[in-house]
Amino acid sequence: MRNLLDILDLNREELQRLIETASDMKEFPGKYSHTCEGKILATLFFEPSTRTRMSFESAMLSLGGGVISMADAVSSSSAKKGESVIDTARVISCYADIIAIRHFKEGAALAAADKGTVPVINAGDGGHGHPTQTLADLMTIYSEKGRMDNLTIGIAGDLKYGRTVHSLISALSLFDGIRLVLISPEELALPPYIIDTVITPNHMDYIESRSLEEHIGELDAIYMTRIQQERFDDPSAYERLKDSFILDRSLMESAKDDCIVMHPLPRVNEIAPEVDEDKRACYFRQVANGRFMRMALIKMLLEEAEKNPAEKVIGLASRAVRMPEAEAGKHRCANERCVTFTEPSTEPIFVTDDGEHYRCAYCDKALAL
Ligand code: ASP
Repeated sequence: MRNLLDILDLNREELQRLIETASDMKEFPGKYSHTCEGKILATLFFEPSTRTRMSFESAMLSLGGGVISMADAVSSSSAKKGESVIDTARVISCYADIIAIRHFKEGAALAAADKGTVPVINAGDGGHGHPTQTLADLMTIYSEKGRMDNLTIGIAGDLKYGRTVHSLISALSLFDGIRLVLISPEELALPPYIIDTVITPNHMDYIESRSLEEHIGELDAIYMTRIQQERFDDPSAYERLKDSFILDRSLMESAKDDCIVMHPLPRVNEIAPEVDEDKRACYFRQVANGRFMRMALIKMLLEEAEKNPAEKVIGLASRAVRMPEAEAGKHRCANERCVTFTEPSTEPIFVTDDGEHYRCAYCDKALAL
């Protein structure tokens, strides 16, 4: 049984296969309308969401499956009574064949998967990751550019809290010849742990910049993101930073003729509505791709769960080398946003890529030994 907790739970070949399946689903939807008959997807959303939850639900219904949903899990559920995410996931595992979970705590999907008995899909865990958005992003890049290698990709906005950015950069590390132009205000720069665990070990070419104007002409794709208001502890910092970058028609004049514009949505002010008419703007096509990639993913995970019900692969901890349990039990992750910080019942899991430096498997933050 497999989960999708981190985009790197999938390798390059699997990502390519998912894109092929999703493209076939887009072209011949009728072929797949009975694929998941008799199966149930539970959507468990502890954070507001419209598009991601509905995209999952639409994906499962298009595969002929059923859906049960907790749209506002915080206020309408046992979480209000103090139930842990682990217990909630265990209970929902008894009602559904697959779970898509969104939670405001980093690593919550891993916590759910660790004790759950059905495949778990991370539909966004705090400011950490959002792998199924990345599936939509990759299909969009592939279908619009015809390739995934040798591209200069600009990512602009909130690179600190933007979970879609973190997952996208991880995925791009699997491809060749990618050059990243990371554009953000200084306060919202990419977290150092992503540079240390993804960019540097994979020798990715990147620069950090404070200016979109300066680089727009070099880009094959520009990925705009919203400043993540809900992650700010200080509301005045959000007010100061919220309009840091605005892509409008006049800025688009400096972009290449085939530079695509992407956005995970929702947009606030960062793309002027006038850009929607530009043929290079593909954020609504990206939304459509998300549904088909989620269909392909659900199909894949359910098929694998049927083949190997007992074998449990929990993602990150299976890729890197895991600290022995007895040793891990002596440590706690110090990241206040990590699910292990607030839910003491979560088992501490630390992993290492180099045998020396350990990170929390839930939130990827370094463990100070
Ligand atoms: N919808 C994306 C997410 O859930 C992007 C965003 O909210 O800005 O992370």
